[in-house]
Amino acid sequence: MTVKSFDRGVFLPHYKEYTENDPITTISLPSEVVIPLHQHIGAPCKAVVQVGDKVKTGQKIGESDAFVSASVFASVDGTVVAIEPRPSFTGGKVESVVIEVSPHQEDPQWSERDLEQLNNDQIKQAIKDAGIVGMGGAAFPTHVKLSPPKPIDAVIINACECEPFLTCDHRILVEMTDELVEGAKLIQKLINADKLYFGVETNKPDAIEALNSKLTAEETIEVVPLDVKYPQGSEKQLIKAVLDREVPPGKLPLEVGVVVQNVGTAVAVYEACRYEKPLYERVLTVTGDGAAKPANVKVPIGTTIGHVIEQCGGFKDDKEPGKVVMGGPMTGFAQTRLDIPVVKGTSGILLFSEEMLVKSEHRPCVRCSRCVVHCPMYLYPNSISVNAERGLYDQAVEWGAMDCFECGICVYVCPSNRPIVQLVRDTKKAQAAK
Ligand code: SF4
Ligand code: SF4
Repeated sequence: MTVKSFDRGVFLPHYKEYTENDPITTISLPSEVVIPLHQHIGAPCKAVVQVGDKVKTGQKIGESDAFVSASVFASVDGTVVAIEPRPSFTGGKVESVVIEVSPHQEDPQWSERDLEQLNNDQIKQAIKDAGIVGMGGAAFPTHVKLSPPKPIDAVIINACECEPFLTCDHRILVEMTDELVEGAKLIQKLINADKLYFGVETNKPDAIEALNSKLTAEETIEVVPLDVKYPQGSEKQLIKAVLDREVPPGKLPLEVGVVVQNVGTAVAVYEACRYEKPLYERVLTVTGDGAAKPANVKVPIGTTIGHVIEQCGGFKDDKEPGKVVMGGPMTGFAQTRLDIPVVKGTSGILLFSEEMLVKSEHRPCVRCSRCVVHCPMYLYPNSISVNAERGLYDQAVEWGAMDCFECGICVYVCPSNRPIVQLVRDTKKAQAAK
């Protein structure tokens, strides 16, 4: 087996053993869900329901006229009890539709369509109507990504799941292989790409086997085993590993004729096209040494992380964790409260004990250059951080801050525990404010 990779990056401990063999399960519904009207890159939605309205699972509750946006849907049967700003996982508040969950839930009824009969306009419309976004965390509207202004010759399904702890994509790969492959083929057809690749890290041999068992007769589809290295699942590193193409700094994958889609997104595309099912639920991983019963669970969008944690047995030994993170440990967002809702891009809820946390003060840069040696984007994180720390944001930009995709490797390797990613975010915010 030929295993491909990219230059630089780091080998991280996996910690996937907590949940990698746990099948996807469901949880009991909460008493209310909080569905943000802005959970994607692009224009926020406006509510199309009012307080007092009865809503059904899968009913559209928010939309926007903007091309770069994604509609949002009720994830339960219930009654709208508020439309108001509520706390968001990124900090601050986001206008949200609050739905009191009805004690009587009806199974949603979906039509079934013959995928062979769908033309490309119908596929794209189905994806847009379903409000699908990139479910790996970026939450970029999928119908926009699948409208490239240039010819595309390759689609890569990102099946790396390279962040430690997370295993929800792994479980989708082995439990929903047919749906995943069908969704990926729909994407390939829509953008008229010659080749379709599945990039999978070799720590998921069952996933590689499951995919290969479905693809034996397919000449234009290839499963590519990849080195277990972080950030293998980042778009630019994935494209380099699979196709040996370099995406230029500041450019998108379409510049080199490639579109990358996440595993969960491809399954959502299948469900939208096959059943006209909107994106109102997702699979995520609840894990960490502070979780009582780590699990992979399918969760209605808008369920609070507190309810999800409770449904997974709560905190280990009833002990308050030292840190709660939404997303992966490298790129996720630390949370200080548990009434934050799961959104379309939430891949995990991580609970870390006090013992697991590295605690030390930020210290001055000692010019060891470890961050430079490991940065997968060939940036100078040391110079970015030193300048940003002094408020010299223009200089931080000159050192490449805008090309940083916040993978967190520099923070991981830094002996001085420098808050480099936070300083990059400060720089980007200062640039956006100009
Ligand atoms: S500077 Fe950005 S891209 Fe480079 S290692 Fe740090 S977080 Fe990753
Ligand atoms: S790893 Fe930390 S201490 Fe070393 S050069 Fe980079 S910022 Fe400075």
